[in-house]
Amino acid sequence: MDTEILRPAAHADFERAAQLIRRGELVAFPTETVYGLGANGLDAAACARIYEAKGRPSDNPLILHAADLAMAQTLTCGMPAAAAHLLAAFAPGPLTVVLPKAHHIPDIVTGGLLTVGVRCPDHDVARRLIRAAGVPIAAPSANTSGRPSPTTAAMVEADLAGRIPLILDGGCCQWGVEATIVDCTEEGHVTILRPGAITREMIA
Ligand code: AMP
Ligand code: MG
Repeated sequence: MDTEILRPAAHADFERAAQLIRRGELVAFPTETVYGLGANGLDAAACARIYEAKGRPSDNPLILHAADLAMAQTLTCGMPAAAAHLLAAFAPGPLTVVLPKAHHIPDIVTGGLLTVGVRCPDHDVARRLIRAAGVPIAAPSANTSGRPSPTTAAMVEADLAGRIPLILDGGCCQWGVEATIVDCTEEGHVTILRPGAITREMIA
């Protein structure tokens, strides 16, 4: 497979990338943290391709990326108060909240869990891609398992060329570290599952 690198500008560029996503293909794209390896988050077969391309163990759940809070809301079957507070404060931004999952999210996304990680990336290319696709985009970092998370399109190319059809080039990622992950599924408790760009103090 040839891997194209595209610096998206026009509406047609996003439409082309979105078509690949809707067809079940993988598209790498920039976020403010690191580059993501994206697939239609509601399509189990497309998400299976993420695990295959990365060599990722199938019990390691994927995070769903939403264009905005309205889309994020559709991915959960109940928004705990703490999650709503944190999203109001930090979305869009480098915070992933783990929420009770909506029924229509495939098991492969969550590794069989009844919860799902959701994030609204603060990056124009990511947002425009998700909006054009019209679906949440499941995306772990765009590297094969064990390799460092990529912060440029060239790093993605060096690792994944030949395995994916398209890399959207949005330049260098602002943060270069992963999003912080918090579990908000237990009412009244917020647990930090992975430290990252948003600190414990900021969450408190
Ligand atoms: P990444 O590989 O950077 O996309 O991060 C994905 C990580 O988020 C996984 O390895 C898990 O540690 C965490 N994660 C995703 N979904 C969940 C979930 N439903 N419950 C707990 N942790 C999750
Ligand atoms: Mg990763």
